[in-house]
Amino acid sequence: MRSAAVAAEPRRRTVTTADGRQVGYDALIVATGANARRLAVPGQRGELVLRTLDDARRLRTRLDDAATAIVIGAGFLGMEVASACAARGIPVTVVDTDRPLHRILGGHLSAAITARAAAHGIRFVQATGFAALAGNPVHGVALPDGTELTADLVVTCAGEVPCVDWLAGTGLADRLGVGVDDACATTAPGVFAAGDVTYLRGNATRPHRRAPFWSNAVAQGKTAAASALGLPPSGPSQDDYFWTEVAGLSVKIVGHLPLLGEPTTVDGSVTEGRALLTWTHTDGTATAVAYGRRKPITALRHLAATAGSSTPGGRSETNHPASAGSSL
Ligand SMILES: Cc1cc2nc3c(=O)[nH]c(=O)nc-3n(C[C@H](O)[C@H](O)[C@H](O)COP(=O)(O)OP(=O)(O)OC[C@H]3O[C@@H](n4cnc5c(N)ncnc54)[C@H](O)[C@@H]3O)c2cc1C
Repeated sequence: MRSAAVAAEPRRRTVTTADGRQVGYDALIVATGANARRLAVPGQRGELVLRTLDDARRLRTRLDDAATAIVIGAGFLGMEVASACAARGIPVTVVDTDRPLHRILGGHLSAAITARAAAHGIRFVQATGFAALAGNPVHGVALPDGTELTADLVVTCAGEVPCVDWLAGTGLADRLGVGVDDACATTAPGVFAAGDVTYLRGNATRPHRRAPFWSNAVAQGKTAAASALGLPPSGPSQDDYFWTEVAGLSVKIVGHLPLLGEPTTVDGSVTEGRALLTWTHTDGTATAVAYGRRKPITALRHLAATAGSSTPGGRSETNHPASAGSSL
C-alpha cells in the first residue's frame, strides 16, 4: 500500500493512511525509521541533509559544482560526507562542538581519526556552542562567537529524528522514539517496533539506548516479526555491529558505544593506521574495533565476545590521552 501512515489507534487496532483508509491489524510493527535533523529556521531555504536517495542525488549534483564545502556535525555521517568532499579535491571544513567522533568513539580513536582527516585536507573547527545556518538560501555557517564561515556547499549532518509524528496521542513514542524491550514489544499490546524509530528501554542495569545502525535494524526486524507471530526470536534482538570509513580508512566496530578510556591493542598500531583493539566495559561486555584492517565480521564478533569475559593478552596503547568521552 503506497500511502503513508498518518495515525494509529492501538486500542482499536487500526492505522489510518494518508489516502483516508483505516486498516485493521492483529499485530502492528512500527518501522518508520528516522528523518535527518535539520537546523534551518522556518523560511530558510537551501539546507542540504543526507538521509534519502533523493538527498544523496541532490548532494552528488551539488558536489559536481562545489569549490568549497562545510559540513555541520563531526559524527559518522559528517566525517563520511567530508571524506567524500576531500576525495574530490574540495576543501572542506567540519564544524562541531565535539571533536570528530569523540562522543561515540572516545578520545583515543577521535585523536587518530582527526589527524588522519587533517592529513587528507579535512579542516576541523570546534565551535563553542551550536552553529546556525547562515543566509537564505543557505551559504554558510554562523558560529556562536560571531564568526561566519561561507562555502558553496553546506551539509547538515546533525543526527536523526525518529519518525513518530503519526503516533501522536498513542503514548507509544517520546523524544527518543518508540521504546521497546528485548522482544521489540512496545507498551501497547500487539504493537512491536524495529530499527531507527526505536530505542531499547532501560532498566535497573542499563540506560535507554538508541542504536540507529543498519545491522541493528535487521536484527530488530527479525525479532519484531517473530514476536508479532508469537514465535521465539531466531537470534539476538540487538546487533551492535557498525562500520564507517573516514578518509579512506575503514573502521568496523562490534559492541557497545561509546568507547571510553584506553583500549587493549590486540594487534597492530593505531598510529600506523592498522590495528585490532578492544575496550572492556563496566558491565563485563567488550567492544572490538578493526581499525584500517580487513577483519571478517565473524572474527570481530568472536573477539568482542571473548574479550568481554577476560582481557586478552594485548598491550595498552599509550600514545593518546585517555578519553573523558560522554554518553551517546
Ligand atoms: C547516509 C547514511 C549512511 C549510513 N551509513 C550507515 C553505515 O555505514 N552503517 C550502518 O550500520 N548504518 C548506516 N546508516 C544507518 C542505516 O541506514 C539505518 O540504521 C537503517 O537504514 C535503519 O533502517 P530502518 O528500516 O529502521 O529505517 P529507514 O531506512 O529510515 O526506513 C524507514 C522507512 O519508513 C518509511 N516511513 C517513514 N514514515 C512513514 C509513514 N508515516 N508511513 C509509511 N512509511 C513511512 C520511510 O519512507 C522509510 O522508507 C546510514 C544512514 C544514512 C542516512
